[in-house]
Amino acid sequence: MALDRFGRNIHYLRISLTDHCNLRCVYCMPEDMIFRPNAELMQDDEILRLVQLFVNLGFDKFRLTGGEPTVRAHVVDLVRELAHIPGVRSLSMTTNGVLLGRLARPLAEAGLQRLNISLDTLDAEKFRRLTRWGTLEDVWQGILSAEQAGLRPIKLNAVVVRGYNEADVVDLARLTLEHNWQVRFIEMMPFAGATDLQVKQTVTAEEMLQRIQAQLGEVEIANGGELDGEARLYRLKDAKGEIGFISSVTAPFCAACTRARLTADGRLRLCLLREGEVDLLTPLRAGATLDDLRQLILDGIWWKPWGHGLAEGVIPLNRVMSEIGG
Ligand code: SAM
Ligand code: SF4
Repeated sequence: MALDRFGRNIHYLRISLTDHCNLRCVYCMPEDMIFRPNAELMQDDEILRLVQLFVNLGFDKFRLTGGEPTVRAHVVDLVRELAHIPGVRSLSMTTNGVLLGRLARPLAEAGLQRLNISLDTLDAEKFRRLTRWGTLEDVWQGILSAEQAGLRPIKLNAVVVRGYNEADVVDLARLTLEHNWQVRFIEMMPFAGATDLQVKQTVTAEEMLQRIQAQLGEVEIANGGELDGEARLYRLKDAKGEIGFISSVTAPFCAACTRARLTADGRLRLCLLREGEVDLLTPLRAGATLDDLRQLILDGIWWKPWGHGLAEGVIPLNRVMSEIGG
């Protein structure tokens, strides 16, 4: 078991498979983003060795993210190998959905269990403005393909940005009336790359909820008031699905945090919103023993920060979001 000094049992690893992406969302990275050369990223065998090590330390829940994980070469084969590691109890992915039309079924057949798909608006023009390069129809088809492939429950993630899509929370929430989906609204967080926008144009979960209730009526608390991962869940009257709020900025869930992150270049990141990292890939490539690596991970986790410092103005600037994986 990997415990931190506050007694939290850390057993959930989010792995960024690549920093590359086929979109350029305004809240995530600049349009002229320069990515790392492939040689600096973890190779398949390195990811598999590190995951085995984390499993040995009690990790059982893994989420593949990015950048955009589906643009990684041979991602289906990698998912198959990961799914076959004994001890990998939960294997999921966060994706922008663009390539799911052709990848949802192969990923499901390879052993992927669930998907979170990012969708910030149902308006095609706003979608293009937010993602800079994306086409809404591709993502919509991707969502339907994921559902048909059995990658359920479908969870949709919307980052809400003032001046772009703050009014769109209503149409997105309305989806839950007809679909048994979880539509989750995320408060925008500040990282390097687009800090100005991220600081000035954040919309609070409270404001999103008020907008939704003003248009669609009162919501009731769902899931017995328990957090689902990081989301607080509600249900609109007679809705098939649920809406959720991830209020990382205004009401962080640090006390219940069980996660660590592996960046695309093989650094163990202990808190999404703190710069501290432990390099695992360099020692792995230099021939470190499994015991050495194990000790590096355990020491890193022990010193996992309690929580972020956004309220004190501490913004992590050593990486853009796409390198860490969200
Ligand atoms: N490319 C995939 C996607 O967009 O779903 C996976 C990687 S993306 C970095 C993971 C999640 O982080 C997405 O739901 C995305 O919307 C969210 N995200 C990106 N930048 C963010 C920011 N500044 N604040 C909050 N969430 C952000
Ligand atoms: Fe790419 Fe996801 Fe970042 Fe958008 S949020 S630019 S899809 S990594």
